[in-house]
Formats: sequence, structure tokens, C-alpha cells
Amino acid sequence: MADDEAGGEEYLFKVVLIGDSAVGKSNLLSRFARNEFDQNSKATIGVEFQTQAVEIDGKEVKAQIWDTAGQERFRAVTSAYYRGAVGALVVYDISRKTTFESVERWLNELTMHCDTAVAKMLVGNKCDLEDIRDVSIEDGKSLAEEKGLFFMETSALDATNVQEAFEVVIREIYNNVS
Ligand code: GDP
Ligand code: MG
Repeated sequence: MADDEAGGEEYLFKVVLIGDSAVGKSNLLSRFARNEFDQNSKATIGVEFQTQAVEIDGKEVKAQIWDTAGQERFRAVTSAYYRGAVGALVVYDISRKTTFESVERWLNELTMHCDTAVAKMLVGNKCDLEDIRDVSIEDGKSLAEEKGLFFMETSALDATNVQEAFEVVIREIYNNVS
């Protein structure tokens, strides 16, 4: 946080994306930050994070959103990735139950690495794949309730709830600090 020229405050929050490989983390970020979707998603190259501004209560709030470079495949997301995070989107794929079953492990990892309060959203991505759904909305909701997380189903493909999911987390962080 730093004062800007207008004398107001400027906010910059670190938010991390976590969850199993191929659940759509990189596409959620590209949809949110650039309104783009990539069908043949290559492994994330180089870029560690993207900064996106949103307006909350008339104030510009910037979120620095971190995406893994695919290390989650090797269960080797480093502590640097989590350091300083105040928000997290824990993503699973509604068409693959194993990715939902991993959520608890990701939450434990998050808790282990972050000592401060982290605003968390459980995200069931690929809700456009209704015909091959493998995790019910009810199961998503109840896990979120049990763990005290926000919950949304999203689609990075058709843009359903993507903006909303990030904004709820960013607003919660903002409310926590202001
Ligand atoms: P990551 O490994 O978690 O970063 O996942 P990616 O963003 O690389 O996406 C993995 C694959 O899922 C890619 O083939 C994407 O095109 C696809 N994908 C991502 N989001 C969605 C979505 O909302 N709906 C559908 N149908 N496919 C998606
Ligand atoms: Mg990725």
C-alpha cells in the first residue's frame, strides 16, 4: 500500500491460483486479465503473474495474480509462490472428480505457507461441460461451507463467473484491510 498523487491510497494485493494440473488456472487468468481463452493451452511460459486493476467502492484496487508455471504437475509449487499472498483461488475441474479430491491437499499447502488471513474462493471450473459433469454443485458448495470458503462455478471457456470469482476475492481482501 502506498499513497498515490491524489492523496488517496493505492492497493496491491497478491492472489495465487492453485489446484491440480489442467483444471484451467491459466485460462481463468487469461480470461480475467485479457479476455482470452486458449484451447491448446501450452505450459505457462515465463510470466509469473499478471496485474489487473478492479474498481471497488470507487477505489482502484490492483490484484497481482500469480499463476503456476506448471510446477503443480510435480507437486513442487515453491514457498516463494505463496509468500505474501492475501487471496487464493483454489480451482478444480467439475468434469474430473480427482481434481476435486485434491482440494483439501491444496488448502493444507496454502495454510502451511501463509500465516496471515487469506481470502479463499473454491472454484469449480469448466461448468460449460455439464454433460460430462463429475462433481455436483452441492458437493462443491458443501465443501466450501465446511472449509469456510467462498464458492463459484466458472467457465474460462464461455466466461461464466470469471470476473465475479476474482472480484469477490479481491473485495474480501479489501474489506479485510480497510
Ligand atoms: P492449468 O494447467 O490449470 O493452468 O489449466 P489450463 O488453463 O492450461 O487448461 C487446461 C485445459 O483445459 C486446456 O486445454 C484448456 O483449453 C481447457 N480449459 C480451461 N478452462 C476451461 C473451461 O472453462 N471449459 C473447458 N471446456 N475447457 C477449459
Ligand atoms: Mg497453467
